[in-house]
Amino acid sequence: MGKTIIISNRLPVQLQISNESITAIPSVGGLATGMKSVHSGGDSLWIGWSGLTDEEIPQELAPKIDEALAEHGSSKVKLTSAEVDGFYYGFSNRTIWPLFHYFLEYSEFELASWDIYKKVNQKFADAILEKATDDDTIWVHDYQLMLVPQMVREKRPDISIGFFLHIPFPSYEIFRTMPWRKEVLSGLLGADLIGFHTYDYERHFLSSVRRLLGLDVSFNDIYLDDRTIKVDSFPMGIDYKKFSDAAKEHAQRSEEQKSELQKRLDTHKKSTPDAKFFLSIDRLDYSKGIAKRLNAFEYFLNKYPQYKEKVRLIILAVPSRSNVPQYQLLKKEIDELVGRINGELSTVSWTPIWYFYRSMPFENLIDLYTTCDIAWLTPIRDGMNLVAKEYIATRTDKTGVLILSEMAGSANEMNESILINPNNFEQIADALNQAITMPKAEQQNRNSILQKRLERYNVEKWANDFMTSLRNQKEGNTTYV
Ligand code: UDP
Repeated sequence: MGKTIIISNRLPVQLQISNESITAIPSVGGLATGMKSVHSGGDSLWIGWSGLTDEEIPQELAPKIDEALAEHGSSKVKLTSAEVDGFYYGFSNRTIWPLFHYFLEYSEFELASWDIYKKVNQKFADAILEKATDDDTIWVHDYQLMLVPQMVREKRPDISIGFFLHIPFPSYEIFRTMPWRKEVLSGLLGADLIGFHTYDYERHFLSSVRRLLGLDVSFNDIYLDDRTIKVDSFPMGIDYKKFSDAAKEHAQRSEEQKSELQKRLDTHKKSTPDAKFFLSIDRLDYSKGIAKRLNAFEYFLNKYPQYKEKVRLIILAVPSRSNVPQYQLLKKEIDELVGRINGELSTVSWTPIWYFYRSMPFENLIDLYTTCDIAWLTPIRDGMNLVAKEYIATRTDKTGVLILSEMAGSANEMNESILINPNNFEQIADALNQAITMPKAEQQNRNSILQKRLERYNVEKWANDFMTSLRNQKEGNTTYV
């Protein structure tokens, strides 16, 4: 058996340049953790962009970068800043991202950025082809690299290729609006296995393949020339143990060991013991519905005025893609909304919204997850939403209520939460009331079911299930031919 090659836009390490030396620091993100079981030892390689453009890398350090990356089983694809602009900020985040999240009005269809997307996808494919042998297994990740499977297949018809999409695949009616729709589908169909988070995304993809390419589709198999391509859903989980262990350790902390944030949260909890803390954590992205949530919060306080001074909304908005215009506008809208609502409703002893625009270290995330009574996550569209799963995993005493948008992929696996339509303010206000008044025993019942499921379908299982399915598919195809 050959090696496994993983390809994603970004490598699972971050490069730090200091005093003429280079260090590669492993990332702790969900994907990097999930792939641990796949990306281990000397028989695997991760190919991706290092995060530094060619212009940012000092000439004299270039050879050292390859060495530093190689120590982490990684190999870089070189990109210029113009390529990053056109491919990542351009086609990936101004065409695919909004379109696949049903924000058709935000999608730009620029030929120039499509051309650069193709060119950069070819660079990734070439980087794979340079390192791969026919026995290897290739796993390509996400919407930035949808043309890579076919680009590799053309040169190596027998190699095993899997592709996983981490964002939604939209319905045919949305997808068909893209000028390069057939090219994107054909790019993906270079894979032997195409994975999605949910059955609905899978169904949308199959429908587009049938209607746009006229291919034979039977159940979840697509027949193309002499190959069968399998399409399946693999809902991504979290590193459950990492979150539940951190929460257990957090519960044991002495006063001195607590973070500054935790001490501040404790002070407020003590001063108003009956008050409920609502938590909302997202990247600052229009798909997450943060502005809508703020408006819904105001609606809730008008509908249930008895909760004034009795609830507090903590919003953590993590900066994201801030050089794309829509994200700048959204930041302004949220700043203004928080200012207006706080201005109108605050009293001398109460500020209804605490707003943080930054990313927080893991320790502070655990502070927030374990302290807040209600997690309120209402994306307008979200491929999965891991924050919902992380919140539940940290509830060691099984209390806490999750209010989750039915438009998040994770809603499919989290039926025991309170599921809402993020556009229905009436329903949201009632859900918040239900969450505040939910008896402890009911909270614990719901959460113990959720926790069992999340613990079992953790991120490692996700990666292993995908790899097993890819191996089986390859064996099937070999026999079929
Ligand atoms: N997260 C983080 N720092 C923060 C806030 C969140 O690292 O300050 C993490 C969070 O723990 C979660 C991820 O960011 O694992 C967000 O994943 P999710 O699927 O919810 O949304 P995405 O940002 O991928 O759309």
